[in-house]
Amino acid sequence: MSEDAPGGTRQLPPFHCPYCGDEELTPHGESADAWRCGACLRAFTVRLIATGVSR
Ligand SMILES: [Zn+2]
Repeated sequence: MSEDAPGGTRQLPPFHCPYCGDEELTPHGESADAWRCGACLRAFTVRLIATGVSR
């Protein structure tokens, strides 16, 4: 691992696996928003589409 994120904080898995509900999510590949489920071995990305907007 040679990646050093400025700020030093590592993004945490935002939720359980959307496919099987397991919590064992680990970073996948080089994308900061890609995760892999350790239970069902699915890999997926998480994309933010909005922040703090209420209506
Ligand atoms: Zn899963």
